[in-house]
Amino acid sequence: IQKKVILTEKMEAVEQMGAAISHEIRNPLTAAMGFVHLMKEPAISPKKRMEYLSIVKEELESAERVIQNYLTFSKPSLGYIEEIPVKTELLKVINILKPSANQNSVEITTNFAILGSIEGDRQKFHQCFLNVIKNSIESMPRGGHIYIYTHYTKTHIIIEIEDTGVGMSQEQIQRLGEPYYSTKGSKGTGLGMMVVFSIVKAMKGTIKVESEINQGTIFTFTFPTYNHSSKNERF
Ligand code: ADP
Ligand code: MG
Repeated sequence: IQKKVILTEKMEAVEQMGAAISHEIRNPLTAAMGFVHLMKEPAISPKKRMEYLSIVKEELESAERVIQNYLTFSKPSLGYIEEIPVKTELLKVINILKPSANQNSVEITTNFAILGSIEGDRQKFHQCFLNVIKNSIESMPRGGHIYIYTHYTKTHIIIEIEDTGVGMSQEQIQRLGEPYYSTKGSKGTGLGMMVVFSIVKAMKGTIKVESEINQGTIFTFTFPTYNHSSKNERF
């Protein structure tokens, strides 16, 4: 089993991401625009027109993927700190991903600790686990299982996301979170995990990855527990 504890220190890269991201969105948009111009030409055949249209669609989808993976950073609520009830919020994320899981014959099983809150930005928390669980779904092109567990200690809440997917080599694990690192060709952006690392760091959490090729992957997230007493002093 390949193991690595990632201490979320890949952050300098993240800080320069804004410019890179807009570049990443501008490229496909410029390409799409070019083909829209070509389609204005009255003389082109219906066949060519259809071909151009499908290129435009692909380019727009590519821009959309970048935005989806990076959504968090365009939210005005950035830095907004609140109590995040882990079970409730994870259920919301799972609901969003249910249709895509069903479509890919992926079954999601959960086992949540009833209680437990952490502190952070709810939008970012959603984005983080959306990206992680989406990767799990995408790692099982022929279907499989995702197990989502939470439990807690006196001081920490642990969230485990386990899949029965393609797994990762040691090299792949090392490169996780590197901007643009993707093994999905034109279907990937390589931005999802970078965003995950950034968010987990902001919430003072850690990430552990265990993976085995063709067996699956376990992501273990550990976050400090939300401290009610210190927050509610004024009541
Ligand atoms: P993308 O999903 O666009 O490729 P990510 O940053 O989300 O980019 O993920 C980077 C890479 O990490 C993926 O291309 C894949 O190779 C690997 N990866 C992430 N999660 C998993 C997983 N659960 N199982 C197997 N590989 C994974
Ligand atoms: Mg991804």
